[in-house]
Formats: sequence, structure tokens, C-alpha cells
Amino acid sequence: QFHMIKYEDLKWGESLGHGSFTRNFKGFKTDIRDGEKHVTPVFLKELDVVHKNCWESFFEAASLMSQISHKHLILVYGVSVLGVKNIMVQEFVECGALDLYLKRRRSVSVSWKLDVAKQLASALNFLEEKNIVHGNICAKNLLLAREDDPSQGSSPFIKLSDPGISVPMLVILDRIPWVAPELLDAPEKLTLDCDKWSFGATVWEIFNNGNTPLLGWDLDKKRQFYESSQQLPPSQWTELADLVNQCMDYQADFRPSCRSIIRQLNSLITSGNHVHHSLTVNEY
Ligand code: ATP
Ligand code: MG
Repeated sequence: QFHMIKYEDLKWGESLGHGSFTRNFKGFKTDIRDGEKHVTPVFLKELDVVHKNCWESFFEAASLMSQISHKHLILVYGVSVLGVKNIMVQEFVECGALDLYLKRRRSVSVSWKLDVAKQLASALNFLEEKNIVHGNICAKNLLLAREDDPSQGSSPFIKLSDPGISVPMLVILDRIPWVAPELLDAPEKLTLDCDKWSFGATVWEIFNNGNTPLLGWDLDKKRQFYESSQQLPPSQWTELADLVNQCMDYQADFRPSCRSIIRQLNSLITSGNHVHHSLTVNEY
């Protein structure tokens, strides 16, 4: 279900640290097309040997992303296997993860954030139409392909990364508040509704400058947060707080459809200038 890439066609570059289950590198992929040699920069995710028992789930993630194509979804070129090494080869996205980017840049305009939220919503809508559950939507898994250039009037461009190792394998409490609460009791019951919850948490992150929600809470406290049906602190922008709350509804079937999410985001942008202004003032 995915393209196999010969190990010898890969060149390894600098290490880019660890993922939850992977060691990550920049690299290059060589292929011969029409008798010509092409070299493409790639992002290499090598499944950590400690987690090699997760290889099926890892390949499932690669397979999922290989089967679908959308401008706001990461492109997975294929996988490469050599002995115990399992490697996912994907497009290299220049500006890295969105949460780190937002933390680095002290202030990003509200319209920029709205743009990003809209792009994520369009990816979510695409997945919903195809009836495909992603399962790991969060700001860390949004990659920034392009910053904006205000002088050019251009907008940011994001791509949703692969979901990685699936939820049942994970210490699920770790993933609070991104993981849908109904998954705590039944982690195998991953549905489209669960992605809506994660979308809400991700929008919260985007509008809180990439700050990690519930940072420093221990797992017990996180579990209690869900058990007492709590909500993340609301954004000062009421319409937005409302959208996040709709998505993070403890009753899964009350969460809005993607159509409704997109409609609500669009209405925020049309009334944009006014709200944009007042929010920016509050942020300082
Ligand atoms: P998980 O499965 O938990 O998401 P992961 O292996 O995807 O783990 P992340 O923590 O999501 O690892 O990503 C690690 C870092 O690698 C990110 O902070 C991001 O900056 C960078 N990164 C991830 N994917 C790419 C990519 N395709 N291109 C460039 N940088 C990337
Ligand atoms: Mg990731």
C-alpha cells in the first residue's frame, strides 16, 4: 500500500532530534526519472528500535498518508526497510512544527492564526469526506511550509503530518487534552468525532501562541480534568472560544460537522478587521 524506497537511494543528513517513537533526520532521496538523476530533500523518520514492536502501526500511518493527497496533508514518499530499520520517507517541510514556530515568534497576527485554522479545517473536511480518521491532530503535527510575507500580502501554508503510532499503543493519559475523552475507556473506538475534539484543542493551541495546554499537569490531574468534564481556559475572543467548546464537547455526537466548522471560521474572517484589531491590543 506504499512505495518501497531502496535504502541505498537515501542519503542521511543532520539529526533533527526525537519524535515520540522515532529518530528524525534531514536527508535526500535519489531517483532516476527519464534517465536523469533527481535529488529531493526529505524528512526521514526512523522508528526507534526500542519501539520496533510498533512497526505495524508505524507503517499504517505511512500507508494512510500515501493513499491520500491534499495540499494541506504531508506527502509521504514511501518507506524503506533495512534489517531492523524501519524508515518513513516524507517531504521536508522548511519551517518545522507549528507549536515551536508560534513559541519562537512572539506575536503572530490573528488573521494569520485564522488562516492556519481554516487550512486545518479544510484538511479535516477532506478526511471526513473520505471517512478517514487521522487520530493525532495537534499543533506539533502541523508543519509550516511557508511563513507569510506581510509586504506581499501572502498567507502561511501548513501541512498536517502523519499520525504516528496509533492511540491504543500509547500512554493515552499523556495525550490529554488532545485525545477525545471517550477514548480513555475505549481507545480502539477512534472515530471522526475524535478528530473534531483534537481539532478544537489544536485551535486552542494556535490561538494561545503554541503554548502547551495543561503543561506540567501530572497524569492523575489530567485524568481528573476529563472525569469532571472540564474545559480549557477560554480565549478572550468569544466566537472562537465558542467554536473550541463545540469541538471539545464531551458528548461526541454533539461536535459540529466540518461544514459547520468552516462556516464559523469563515464568518470570523469576514468580520475580521474589527476583531483582529481588538485582539491584538489585548495580547500586548
Ligand atoms: P509523533 O508521532 O508523536 O508525532 P514524530 O516522530 O512525528 O512523533 P514530532 O515530535 O511530531 O515527531 O516531530 C519532531 C520534530 O520534527 C518537529 O518538531 C518538527 O519540527 C520536525 N518535523 C517533523 N516532520 C517534519 C517534516 N516533514 N519536515 C521538516 N521537519 C519536520
Ligand atoms: Mg509528528
